[in-house]
Amino acid sequence: MTDKLKKKDPDNYTIRVSKEIRRLLLDAIKQKGWFFFKNPHLHKCWEEMKCTKTDCPSYKSSNLRCWQVSGTFCLDKPQGDFAKKYGDCQKCRVYKKATERNVLLKIGEDFNNLMFQLKNKEDELRLNIQHSQEKNRELKALNEKINKLVMTLDKRNVLLRELSIKDGLTGLYNYRFFREILNEQYNLAKRFRFPLSCIMIDIDYFKAVNDTYGHQAGDAILSQLADILRHNVRDADKAVRYGGEEFVIMLPYTDSGDAYIKAERLRQVVSNYPFITGKNKVSITVSLGIATYTDNKNIKRAEQLVVYADKALYQAKQRGRNQTVIHNFRPDEKESGGKAGSFGGVTERRKYPRVQTLIKIKGTVINNRERFSGNAFDISYSGLCFLSSNPLEVNRRVSVSLYLPDIAGKVKKTHQINVDGLLVWCKRISEYSGKYIGSSQKSGIDYLVGIQLINISKKDSAYLQKYFVSMFKKEKYYNLIDDKLYQ
Ligand code: GH3
Ligand code: MG
Ligand code: MG
Repeated sequence: MTDKLKKKDPDNYTIRVSKEIRRLLLDAIKQKGWFFFKNPHLHKCWEEMKCTKTDCPSYKSSNLRCWQVSGTFCLDKPQGDFAKKYGDCQKCRVYKKATERNVLLKIGEDFNNLMFQLKNKEDELRLNIQHSQEKNRELKALNEKINKLVMTLDKRNVLLRELSIKDGLTGLYNYRFFREILNEQYNLAKRFRFPLSCIMIDIDYFKAVNDTYGHQAGDAILSQLADILRHNVRDADKAVRYGGEEFVIMLPYTDSGDAYIKAERLRQVVSNYPFITGKNKVSITVSLGIATYTDNKNIKRAEQLVVYADKALYQAKQRGRNQTVIHNFRPDEKESGGKAGSFGGVTERRKYPRVQTLIKIKGTVINNRERFSGNAFDISYSGLCFLSSNPLEVNRRVSVSLYLPDIAGKVKKTHQINVDGLLVWCKRISEYSGKYIGSSQKSGIDYLVGIQLINISKKDSAYLQKYFVSMFKKEKYYNLIDDKLYQ
């Protein structure tokens, strides 16, 4: 240091500020902790002011910087916190005595006050963070509570939905929901062109069951029947309590042949099942009617599927109950229901006319390629029966070729039409009596087989119709076979 400077700064303040204060500043900047300038000239305020206010927070406190202590009682007045009272404190002799000796003490205490403020701010910040963390925890707990509530609500909604779409007694879908299923499945089947079958089921003589065993027993039977239906349908199928003792099963991707097999299986399960009602074991039977979209080209609206399944069910009842009937649409039947007896302009007493004349058929059982052939003698739009020397297993899908006479009159020529069908029954001829059977036995043919027609092309169907009309005109048809054969 030059002499000139030494004269100006006899206490070496420049060097001391640079060494002592700057070091503190640098350490504080590097955040090595809280540093304070050591001031040896601090005075005890209670001595300096001859204070007797023993309840003042600074009274005999180890912290001699009373200006940093909030709530002191200088001049008997509570003084607020540091920031509020600092201006006044600088004028107080306690503060002045601590700093008046030189500029180093002034800067040192300024530094201490700045650090004190920063520390306060840090504490405040920490407190705020703590507060936010607490708030966060509270919010999280609240969120969890809300989530739990939403989950409970969801479960209750599912339960409510279940209650609103299911029937109370049987747990099957109710009629209201059935309307939704029907429309939804019909629209899908129409859009993606897959078959959709509807099986309508009605308990036979259920009134008598109620009358014999009581209404409660009837309820128990309905509930057990619902269990059977539930356990015998695929996940994609929907079992519905249509009303009273009537049920519906909707089967997507299922044509009438497969629906028939399913319906027959169900019918047999039901007829063999011992329904328990108190001490009694009760047997019941059901009748079933089937209608299928895509097999039946006349179904143009979802509801028609139900109407036609119901018609088929009615036929099953008419034919003696405990059986399945597939609704078969005659080409000339109007949607409103064709007039019984009018058929291709020719009057016939049956609603579903049959012609009886021997027609050669050849067929194949689809799943095992077993071939069969014989003479069909009773043909209608809904099916045919033929004479076979071998028994055939029922509930099998078949494709059949029929060799009809040539309508144009060429005697030796035949016209082949092809149909898809289902073997629905096979009976020994010797179980029946009558003139017809005698002639069959002579020829060694011992079986009558029934085939339900499922699918026939438009062209072949038109030919079949023409053939029927030609037969009726010639009055060549006759009805030897009694309806009982179809039971
Ligand atoms: P069919 O073979 O012609 O169907 O004869 P059915 O006696 O079953 O037919 P009908 O329609 O005359 O009678 C139906 C009976 O079903 C009458 C009714 O008491 C009974 N039923 C309908 N709903 C319930 C029900 O929820 N519980 C009980 N126990 N019986 C019912
Ligand atoms: Mg009924
Ligand atoms: Mg009934």
